[in-house]
Amino acid sequence: MFNLDDYISIVGENEISELRLISEKLRGKSIVNINSTSIGGGVAEILNRMVPLLKDMGVNVRWECIKGGEKFFIITKKFHNALHGKKEQLSKEDFELYLDTVRDNVLSLSLDADILFIHDPQPAALVLERNKYKNRWIWRCHIDLSQRDENLWNFLKPMIEQYDASVFSAPSFTQGLLHRQMLIPPSIDPLSDKNKELPRQTIDEVLSRFKIDAERPIVTQISRFDYLKDPVGVIEAYKLVKQYVNCQLVLAGGSADDDPEGVKVLAEVRQKAGEDPDIHILCLPPTSHIEINALQRASTVILQKSLKEGFGLTVSEALWKGKPVIASSVGGIPLQITHKYSGILTHSIEGTAHWLKQLLQNPEYAKKLGDNGREQVRNNFLLTRHLREYMLLFLSLDHPNETLIYF
Ligand code: UDP
Repeated sequence: MFNLDDYISIVGENEISELRLISEKLRGKSIVNINSTSIGGGVAEILNRMVPLLKDMGVNVRWECIKGGEKFFIITKKFHNALHGKKEQLSKEDFELYLDTVRDNVLSLSLDADILFIHDPQPAALVLERNKYKNRWIWRCHIDLSQRDENLWNFLKPMIEQYDASVFSAPSFTQGLLHRQMLIPPSIDPLSDKNKELPRQTIDEVLSRFKIDAERPIVTQISRFDYLKDPVGVIEAYKLVKQYVNCQLVLAGGSADDDPEGVKVLAEVRQKAGEDPDIHILCLPPTSHIEINALQRASTVILQKSLKEGFGLTVSEALWKGKPVIASSVGGIPLQITHKYSGILTHSIEGTAHWLKQLLQNPEYAKKLGDNGREQVRNNFLLTRHLREYMLLFLSLDHPNETLIYF
């Protein structure tokens, strides 16, 4: 098991001592995180690492998941899509089923912590029960709300305003709300199985297990099979480039418990890939952290051609491995990539194909982008920074009417 001191070699001693000091001020407070899945997707990825580290610092923190049936998750996936700006049909019955399911969860969850840290829309309605408790509630929104569906937001907003504060990943995601809004981007854990250094032998073993040729360029996108990640667009970009460069494409993903669309998207991806033996579609179990790490490290170029994105942890993961990344300029991706400095930002299939061909043909330039990307992640998107900001947020709840807080 890891502990906070293991991070000294990456971020230095001062940052770690500061974390310990802040954590001492949280002694005596209990915090519960609530989201909708313990596996799959970025939120689970972060909580899986953050919760044990907070515990290691002596913080009284827990993590629970709300439960729901298939219908509930179909509706909340529609919420997710509609908040990202996709047109979805949502009926009065959908809203009622959502509220009923969240209400049912109140009985099985322990909401008696000092701070309720509620992630995303799925469990957001839990706040409707807050009058029964004397605690503080924070809504942590991981979604880009800049083009949210008006109808859905009109339903959610009065609920969100019952929270004491909201947290967003980027300035453009914030909303006109009555309470404090904090900007805290997510992070990756450099010591997790997903991101730690790997011996060459492990990387080669993973490539050979998936029958990927280590001698030819590998272009990769790691993502749940979700329309918003545009895996079909990735195949189209690859096909444009394949005429010039003899590369391979890896599309690796799995499913998340709270995402019912995966099977359909995967079938469309398989159909689009056809019989091309150089397209590797890998459907991985949720524990495949070493495999994903190895695939990212083996890649020549990494793509993230999302149509919409919250933050895009996969971009940070790729940059941290010093890889050149070509990603859509959506959601939190421009926070991570400065165009032509720490990666490439694109807006179309043709643009992605153009830059993919450029980077495959200019390895020195590609390496420079990757090197800069790694430093961008070291300075901004590692777990230690994220822990500091969350702990300060928790402490700030004791000072609701102060604009300047001294700790
Ligand atoms: N991931 C994974 N297995 C998969 C697909 C994705 O472990 O098959 C991980 C990925 O490495 C990243 C997270 O899930 O850590 C996805 O987070 P991101 O913010 O990129 O997207 P989200 O799925 O939350 O929309």
